[in-house]
Amino acid sequence: MSLQDIQSRIHDAEARAGKDAGETQLIAVSKVQPNERVEAVLQEGQRCFGENRVQEAAGKWPEFSSRFEGLDLHLIGPLQTNKARQAMELFHNIHTLDRPKLAKTIARLAQELGHCPQLFVQVNTGEEPQKAGIIPAEADQFIRECQDMDLRVAGLMCIPPADEEPSLHFSLLAKIAARNGLTGLSMGMSGDFESAIALGATHVRVGSAIFGARAYEL
Ligand SMILES: *Cc1c(COP(=O)(O)O)cnc(C)c1O
Repeated sequence: MSLQDIQSRIHDAEARAGKDAGETQLIAVSKVQPNERVEAVLQEGQRCFGENRVQEAAGKWPEFSSRFEGLDLHLIGPLQTNKARQAMELFHNIHTLDRPKLAKTIARLAQELGHCPQLFVQVNTGEEPQKAGIIPAEADQFIRECQDMDLRVAGLMCIPPADEEPSLHFSLLAKIAARNGLTGLSMGMSGDFESAIALGATHVRVGSAIFGARAYEL
C-alpha cells in the first residue's frame, strides 16, 4: 500500500472517531527497510519515522537529516541505558521508557545535554514476560516517579500480544493514561491502526503497510 492510501485510511478513521483530519500522527516505521524505500517515502513528504534500534538509526538518519528538513524521529524499540545518550542525541521522541534505572539515566542526561526528547512510557498491557514495558499495576507509580524526576511524560505506548484482540489493550492503555492525566497514546500498527484511532490513539506506528514486508524480523 502507498503512503497516500494509509493517510486516507487514517483520515477515514479520524472522521469516524469524530476527530479532525491530521490529528493522529503517522509514524512511518522504517526499521530494516532499504534506504531507497525510505528515501521514496521522504520524497513523498513524510517526515515522521520510527526505528527500533539506536545503532541502525545512527547509521541511516544523520545522512537523511542533512538532506531533508523537519525530521521527527521516534525510537520505538527497547533502550539500554548505555545507549541512552546516543538515543537522546538522535531521536526527538522515545516511546520505550519502561523502568526506573532508564528514567534516572535520561533525567541525568537531560540536565547535561540541556534537552530531552518527548517521552512515552511503555506499558506491557499483556503482561508478557518476554516483552518490555512496565506492568499495568505498576504504571501509575512509575509515571509519578518519572514526573518527580522532572521528566515530562507525553503519554503511553503499548504493543498488544500477537494473539489477542488488540482493542482490549488499546482501551486499557487509554484508561491508564486518562487516570494519570496523560494525553498521548502511541498505539496501533499496520494491522490495527484504525481500531487504535477509534480508541484514542494520538500516534500510530505503521511499518509494513507503507514500506512492504520487511526482509527479516527483528
Ligand atoms: C515494527 C514495529 C511496528 C510496525 O509494525 P508493522 O506491523 O510493520 O506496522 C510498530 N511498533 C513497534 C514497536 C515495532 O517494533
